Amino acid sequence: MQEKRKIAVLVGDGMGDDPVAALGGKTPLQVAKMPDIRRVAALGHVQLVQTVPDGMAPGSDVANMGLLGYHAGENYTGRAAIEAAGARIPLAADDVAYRTNLVTVGDDGTMVDYSAGDMPTEDGRALIASLDEAAAREGLKFHGGVSYRHLLVLRGGPTGLVLTPPHEISGRPVAEYLPRGEGAERLLELMELSKKVFAGHPVNAARRAAGKRPATQIWPWGAGKAMRLQPYRERYGLEGGVITAVDLVRGLAELCGLEVIRVPGATGWIDTNYAGKGQAAIECLGRSDFVYVHVEAPDECGHKGMPEAKVEAIENFSRHVVGPVWAALEAAGKPYRLLVCTDHRTPVAKRGHTADPVPFAWLDGPVGAAAAGSAAAAFDESVPVSGAIKPPLACHIVDSLLRH
Ligand SMILES: [Zn+2]
Repeated sequence: MQEKRKIAVLVGDGMGDDPVAALGGKTPLQVAKMPDIRRVAALGHVQLVQTVPDGMAPGSDVANMGLLGYHAGENYTGRAAIEAAGARIPLAADDVAYRTNLVTVGDDGTMVDYSAGDMPTEDGRALIASLDEAAAREGLKFHGGVSYRHLLVLRGGPTGLVLTPPHEISGRPVAEYLPRGEGAERLLELMELSKKVFAGHPVNAARRAAGKRPATQIWPWGAGKAMRLQPYRERYGLEGGVITAVDLVRGLAELCGLEVIRVPGATGWIDTNYAGKGQAAIECLGRSDFVYVHVEAPDECGHKGMPEAKVEAIENFSRHVVGPVWAALEAAGKPYRLLVCTDHRTPVAKRGHTADPVPFAWLDGPVGAAAAGSAAAAFDESVPVSGAIKPPLACHIVDSLLRH
């Protein structure tokens, strides 16, 4: 039997962008020094793809599902369902999970902070535990998470509600964005209860005394019922791991039956341990067939409107992740397939995601001496759409590349 080909999928989150005036009218991918990525594009294939199915919001959850080979339109139930999987919280068939933020709403009724001052995990969990105790009833459970990010699971909870992510309404009056729709009163009641429980809570008293923002209430969003993805082993005959600093992508890994690999110093920000992620990927490929590496930093730079930092994050992704992983695959001298992609655009001018097409490259190796040569092709928003008027969905391409 022929030896199995190793497959590496390397994802820089939110690398896509629009032309930026501060970069001379070019995009970060156009100005970044990233010879390794450009060489993959030159020696392999490169084209534009659509990562987000029509009609779906360009979230990292939906887009990364596509880059893992799953059509979000057929599998996606809601962000909180993926987060529950990542936290290994089992959901029964009639359970609905809600991502639950601890937020700061000002006396004037505006959303002051969707993260309640980037609350430490210990404080956040203490508040959520008190709320869970006060709300105690059959079929209702608050689960403490990380920092300001927690989960609520409601048996038979409402699913058709209009829920607004709190990071989208910074500075706006919250009254206009409260949960709406049939059954919304179940969430509104809990939000009211949280105001009472948190008002006199010792954690908030200590935070106020220290000049920090208190959590004034909870904000539920991202509702989802239990989600199932066909495991990689069954679907592609692949065993492997996922390397990421982000809970959401860890949740997808759990749902795919892939190992969640933690790398010390992986922060999800531009100070992340890029080289450690590259090294962990090489080790993962040494013991299994597949690795998916997700680097969050370029996306965060987009959200914070920092073009130069975004260029630097892309360069570090190329130099410390793409370069070393590719070199290790070449050095092994065995058949491999390397995919380099991004999940969506996070234009620095918009500070949010868009669903416009993004570049996608793949290469079958080994390619020998060419891997260290000087070949270069564009890997950016200007590359042609391959043979079609509309870019194909990334999930179909990845699915096919993982199968054949
Ligand atoms: Zn993303």
